[in-house]
Order: sequence, then structure tokens, then C-alpha cells
Amino acid sequence: MSGAPAISTSSEPAGLPGTLLRVRGLSVRYRVGDGAVARAVDDVSFDVPRDRTVGLVGESGCGKTTVAKTLLRLLPPNADVVAGDMLLEGRDLLALDPQEFRRLRWTRLSYIPQNALSALNPVFRVGDQMAEPMRVHRGVSKKEAARTVANALAKVGLDGTVASAYPHQLSGGMRQRVLIAMALVLEPVLVVVDEPTTALDVLTQLEVLKEFKRVREQSSTSFLYVSHDLGVVKEVCDDVLVMYAGKLVERGPADRVFSGPAHPFTMGLLYAVPESRGAAQLVSIPGATPDLRHPPRGCPFAERCPFATELCLEEMPALRSVGDGQEAACHYVERSPAFREDASRAETWGRVADRLRSARAREAGNP
Ligand code: ATP
Ligand code: MG
Repeated sequence: MSGAPAISTSSEPAGLPGTLLRVRGLSVRYRVGDGAVARAVDDVSFDVPRDRTVGLVGESGCGKTTVAKTLLRLLPPNADVVAGDMLLEGRDLLALDPQEFRRLRWTRLSYIPQNALSALNPVFRVGDQMAEPMRVHRGVSKKEAARTVANALAKVGLDGTVASAYPHQLSGGMRQRVLIAMALVLEPVLVVVDEPTTALDVLTQLEVLKEFKRVREQSSTSFLYVSHDLGVVKEVCDDVLVMYAGKLVERGPADRVFSGPAHPFTMGLLYAVPESRGAAQLVSIPGATPDLRHPPRGCPFAERCPFATELCLEEMPALRSVGDGQEAACHYVERSPAFREDASRAETWGRVADRLRSARAREAGNP
């Protein structure tokens, strides 16, 4: 974590070839009262390559936003990063002092948050807010900043008059597009995007997504795109990371993972979406995510998995390769083609629901 190279202003500073962000063994816990901690992120490792969009998906509460906020140093005070490294272009983001980190923010690393209204300051005009990082980090003149702002707005399909508006004068979709433009204005190498369209209506979502895709094609910026919307991730991401209960359970090129999921959780997640390929019927995963204050010893998905064995309850599987850059944390990855077939049927998950009901009845003392 020590010995990070000095901040470079060139566009190609020291780093690992091809890898822009390298996260290793990241663990984050929240103190939740009475001495208890929730293991929100547990030993997560992944890379974001240059010029790629990497999707981070999973059920609500699986730790996606916690990963994003750790990168941006936006975690609340009750969070502790207990282990891990996050190297952006070879510099450990967790080890930088606050001043070094501020220099990196906007210029190398930026953030598009979910809530466009609260992310913009209501009392400043949009153009002034967008110009602020430029003036602070690049010391550009007012005139030049205004020109850059107008260009940045044009890139997301907004005209220059938006610069003189206050946030409340814009629609939700326009505000979200302003945030996209703002995050990209200093041409950072990595943009972390957290559910950028979730709060918007369906039509506006499509519009914002269209602009996002256009911006992405025209820039060489990499994106870490957090979303629970698999349809969106399939459309915009090159690679995908799947989290479950704070752990990374599958990763790989998006087309591989979407066409041939190797972890039973990913199968359930994908086959629950109407337009997904490969599902004979729509399925839903019964049960709930484990309590992160008392995570199970073995695979966190075992309780809800149609294929779990004793081994799964006892031992957390490591990520294992299924070829072509795809990996899944399942003891039985080699059986994934047969599992896919079974997991695409509703009755397979129905059996899990029966199993969970019996377990609950046993716990309540009525076998
Ligand atoms: P969503 O899809 O709902 O946005 P997520 O995958 O982004 O979910 P996180 O917000 O990272 O999930 O939350 C991960 C876990 O950490 C959850 O169990 C959540 O309850 C817990 N958590 C998140 N923020 C806090 C907090 N400030 N204090 C305590 N626990 C928290
Ligand atoms: Mg979230």
C-alpha cells in the first residue's frame, strides 16, 4: 500500500499494461450497533481494463454500492475497509493522502451517482457547477470553462442554455445527463456509475442510456457500471461481475456470462428476467440473502441453491475458470451446462422453496 508513485498528469502514467483498476481482497464492514458488524463486501477482487465497461450486478444489498463508494472515498463513518488494495494506474487509492486523492478526483476518477437531484447543488447554476472542477484542477479561464461546458453538454444531447439553468428547472432525465457530462468533463480514465437510470421513468431511461452509450463509444474512458438491471448491463457492458451477499460469485465477458452463466445464482438472476435467453420458463429465486452480520461458513448461496451439497454448506468455493475468461465460485462449475438446463425450469426453484419451508417448519418445531 505504500510507495505509490507520484501523481502524473500525463495521459499514460505508470500502471499495469491493459489494467486500469486492480482491486484485490477488498473487505468492507459496517458497524451496525451492539458491537455487531455487517460484512458488506468480503474478499472481493477484480480488474477494470482500459477502455472497457464493466458491469457490477447482484440482488439488492449484495454490496455493489459499497464497492463503488469505497473507490470514491464516499463511505459513511460507520464503515471500515478492513482489508484490500485498490490500484488505479498503479496507485493505491486506499493509501493516498486526502490531498493526493482530491487531485485524482474528477481528473482521473469520477462518479455518476444515482440520485441526480441531491447530487447537484440547488443554489448554483448547472454550468457553474460543471465548471468548478475545471477551474480548481486545471486553472482554466472562465471563458474556456464555459466553452468546455457547452461541448460537454452537447455530447449528452443537451443544448448550451442548460448551463444557465438551476437544477430544479431541469427534468430528471436532463439532470442525469448533466451528471454524466460533469463526470466526463475532465476526461477521467475511470468513471464509476451507480444505477444511473433506476430513478427515471422507462422512456427517460432509454434516452439517458442512448446518450451514455454514445459517450462511451466516443471516449476511451473505462466505466464500472453498477446496476441491478441486467437488460441494461447486457446492452452497455463488455465484462460483468456478479456479487452475492458481499462476495464475487462470477465474472467474465458479458456475452459469455449472459449466454452461459456458470454460477447457480447468476442462472437464477438471469432466468428471472423475461427477455433472457435460455430460460424455458420465468423463474424466481426463493428465500432471502443471508444476514451479513452472521454470514454462513460455506457458500453464501447454498441455502437457496437447487444444487447445493454438504460441501457447499461447509466450504466457500474459490473462483474457478470455465474458460474464455469466465470464472465462477462454485464447487461444481464443470456441471454448469446441466445446471443451466435445470435452472431454467420453475419447478427446480420450486423444490428449493419447499426445502426452505420445511427447514422453517423444523426450526419452529413442527416437522
Ligand atoms: P442496492 O441494489 O439495494 O443498491 P447494493 O448492492 O448497492 O444494494 P449496499 O448498499 O452496498 O448494497 O449494501 C450492502 C450491505 O451493507 C447491505 O446489507 C446493507 O444493508 C448494508 N449497508 C449499506 N449501507 C450501510 C450503512 N450505512 N450502515 C449499515 N449497513 C449498511
Ligand atoms: Mg446500491
